[in-house]
Amino acid sequence: MIKPYIVGNWKMNLDAAEGTELAGKILHASIDYDSVDVGVAPAFPILYSVKQTVASSKGRLAVVAQNVSAEEKGAFTGESSISMLKSVGVTAVIIGHSERRQIFGETDQTINKKVRLTLSYGLNVILCVGETLFEREADSHFETVTAQVAKGLKDVPVDKIEQVTVAYEPVWAIGTGVNASPADAQAMHAKIREMLKSLYGPVMANKLRIIYGGSVKPDNAKGLMNQPDINGALVGGASLKSEDFLGIINFSK
Ligand code: 13P
Repeated sequence: MIKPYIVGNWKMNLDAAEGTELAGKILHASIDYDSVDVGVAPAFPILYSVKQTVASSKGRLAVVAQNVSAEEKGAFTGESSISMLKSVGVTAVIIGHSERRQIFGETDQTINKKVRLTLSYGLNVILCVGETLFEREADSHFETVTAQVAKGLKDVPVDKIEQVTVAYEPVWAIGTGVNASPADAQAMHAKIREMLKSLYGPVMANKLRIIYGGSVKPDNAKGLMNQPDINGALVGGASLKSEDFLGIINFSK
């Protein structure tokens, strides 16, 4: 049985006061960390203060970054490097979110560079993939998503792959209130696992977490999480309220 992983992607929401307040509420909630892994992904300016807020969890409540530079150091105004993120206690990075791909023009090549860099520093990766509505209606969604997985993981060696979680987030389900049905999400997760099997073999692929994102709420979490290949959730809007986020965590078991 794969331990589920629930991550709250706060996106560009919550300032220092709001973010530390929310982190404090999650910290003090009763979460059975033996049966679920939990992370929160605040915006860059408050990563450090959120990490300090949850310090007493001793890393069980993970602090995750929403992005990282593809470069290691130097004249890249406005960027933050992987070693900087590591230095403030970040233990995982969300890479290739569809908002990064669509709004900021990130390509599979850039994403792959970020993935390999992050892994080489010993941090975990949450690699996001997902098709647009156009691609789903054109019936090319399986092809699109499996290609994103293969390109994102290009040259990632088998001894690093356990640091990777794949997040399937159909673009049409993000922030729309329309989640993928459990059956549709499961079908895609199974395809992703097949791709992982072809890259890393069945034993390894069966250990890897494939989590779902896109309008996850407490009332649809159970149906999604009951699917055999759905190993957790990447939660946007519903991660901004402690009751909703904790509700989703409770349904993950
Ligand atoms: P919503 O949960 O708001 O749909 O966002 C999903 C997401 O993009 C998480 O990364």
